[in-house]
Amino acid sequence: MAASIIELLKKKKPLLWDGGMGTELIARGLTSDTLPELWNIERPDDVRAIHAAYYAAGAVAAQSNTFGGHPMKLEAGGLADRTEELNRAGAMLVVEARPKGKIAVGDIGPCGAMLAPVGDADPTVVKDGFRRQAQALAQGGVDVIHIETMFDLQEIVLAIEAALETGLEVMASMTFEKAARGFFTIMGISPQRAAGELAAVGAVVVGANCSIGPADMVELIREFRKFTAVPLIAQANAGKPRIEGGKVLYDVGAEEFASFAPLLADAGADIIGGCCGATPEFIGKMSAKLKK
Ligand SMILES: [Zn+2]
Repeated sequence: MAASIIELLKKKKPLLWDGGMGTELIARGLTSDTLPELWNIERPDDVRAIHAAYYAAGAVAAQSNTFGGHPMKLEAGGLADRTEELNRAGAMLVVEARPKGKIAVGDIGPCGAMLAPVGDADPTVVKDGFRRQAQALAQGGVDVIHIETMFDLQEIVLAIEAALETGLEVMASMTFEKAARGFFTIMGISPQRAAGELAAVGAVVVGANCSIGPADMVELIREFRKFTAVPLIAQANAGKPRIEGGKVLYDVGAEEFASFAPLLADAGADIIGGCCGATPEFIGKMSAKLKK
C-alpha cells in the first residue's frame, strides 16, 4: 500500500521535499551529451546517493531521476524504446533509498514537443507516452507521481489523466515567470487557472516549481492560495539561473534560501522543497528552519 500524501498532510505541515536533481547529477560528472535517465542504469550508485542525501538532509520525499523519461524526450538520445526500463529503474532507485516512513516520488517532466496551436504534437501520442512513463514508475514502486515544470495546460492535463490510471495520487506543478501583470507560464497560464484546472482533473496537490527564486515563490504561492484550498507545493530555484563562462550559476545561497521556508509556509505552501541549484545542503538548512 503506497503512502498517501493527503494522509501525511493531515498529520504534519509543511512537508519538506527534495531539491534539484540535475544540479546534483552535473556535480557528479553528468555531461550534456548524456541523457540523465541513462544514469539510472549506468550510474545507479550516484543516483541512489543523491536521493539518500536528500532524505538524510530531512526531506520526507525524494523524486526519481525520470524528469525527461517521456519517450518523445528520450528519443533525442535514441532511447525511446527503453522508456519502461529507464523509468522503472529510476523509480526503483528512489524506492531503494527511501527510509521507512518516507515517500518515494515518481517524477514526470514535459514531453519536449509542443501541442497545437504552437506545435503539431499529436495529443494521443503525447498522452500514450505519459501513460508508458507513469505505468513504469508505478511498477518501480513509487508512492506518488509528481508532474512538474509544465507550462502548457493541455499537456499537463494529458499527463495527469495518464498518471491517474496507475491508481496513485498525482501532484501537478507548473513553472511560472513573473511579469508586470503577475505570474504566468510561458504559455500564458495564470496561477488561478492552473489551480482550478489541475485540481479539477484530479491532482491532489498543485503548485509551482523552477524558473523563479524563493522571494518570488512566496508571492506566487500567496496568489495560488487566493484561489484554491487544495494542498500547495512550492519548489523554487536558488534564484534565477544565469550563465557565466559556460556554467550555470545561482545567486541565492543555502542560508538565504532556507530563510524563505517559514514565509512560504505562511503564504500557504503545504509542501516546500527546492528545484534547480537547491542542493541537499539547502534542504538541510530548510529542515532546521522549519523545526524552529
Ligand atoms: Zn528547476
